[in-house]
Amino acid sequence: MNNLIYEDIGHGVSCIDSQYIRPGLASCYLIEQNGHAAFIDVGTNYTVPLLIELLAKKNIPLENVDYVIPTHVHLDHAGGAGSMMQHAPNAQLIIHPRGARHMIDPSRLQAGASAVYGEGEFKKHYGDLIAIDEQRVTVADDGFNINFQGRTLEFIDTPGHAKHHFCIVDNTSNGVFTGDTFGVAYPELTVNGQPFIFPPSSPVDFNPEDWLKSIDKLMAAGCNRAYLTHFNKVDELQPLASALRDRVTLFAQFAMQSPNSDALKTQVQAYFIEEILKTGCQLTTNEIINVLSLDIDLITQGLTVWVEKNA
Ligand SMILES: [Zn+2]
Repeated sequence: MNNLIYEDIGHGVSCIDSQYIRPGLASCYLIEQNGHAAFIDVGTNYTVPLLIELLAKKNIPLENVDYVIPTHVHLDHAGGAGSMMQHAPNAQLIIHPRGARHMIDPSRLQAGASAVYGEGEFKKHYGDLIAIDEQRVTVADDGFNINFQGRTLEFIDTPGHAKHHFCIVDNTSNGVFTGDTFGVAYPELTVNGQPFIFPPSSPVDFNPEDWLKSIDKLMAAGCNRAYLTHFNKVDELQPLASALRDRVTLFAQFAMQSPNSDALKTQVQAYFIEEILKTGCQLTTNEIINVLSLDIDLITQGLTVWVEKNA
């Protein structure tokens, strides 16, 4: 059994380590408002007991979970949604229109991921995905908003990392829950409070044009903090947005110029190492590669698929 690791980060928001693969890799968020709860991202099935433990610690009954809100239907964000909905009888799931059918019937999602990871690995990381009753699923188009116990949460459609990705603006904390759209910043790579931010990919979805537009859209919301799923809150968004834009653009250029995916992978890896060492990060080259190996593989795959689609 994993231990609950979480941090209260102000305005009723807590960041919980979802304990997916390793500590500090993936988080999810609890918003507490008037004794009620909303979760933004829920990790996997193995994260759900931790979320329930946190509710107990905060004296919030499961009946007071109003919303379960995965930012998109990748399994490190939405894998535990069905299980959480089973435990929280009054919760409504809010999901992107392109993700809803996979929450109502997760069999294709599970089959697809099992094919990628292998059955055994899939079960080990995710367990069995649980279907969610259609009646309990609300679809959120761009501009949709909910009144969560007097707290407005507004949904913005933000493709780029995935077509089924939205972000959630929370006026109360002047923050935005960004899933993977505002990039990834691992704690191991933060130097003197300065996060190292980059665009993560899935094996099949990476759309630089859409992504750049989504970053602009997020910045236009005027928030001064972003709640990243990978990992925790970041402030001072302007310089981070510009680093993220540069890296989305640069990775796209790498992909277009690269003769094959092996060469692309080498280039992406070399770029990361060079940029991270420049920040004064004390990790060795091998340690940097260890932190980023999964992302380097996924970015290479995502970019390769994008280039092929555009060819
Ligand atoms: Zn993710």
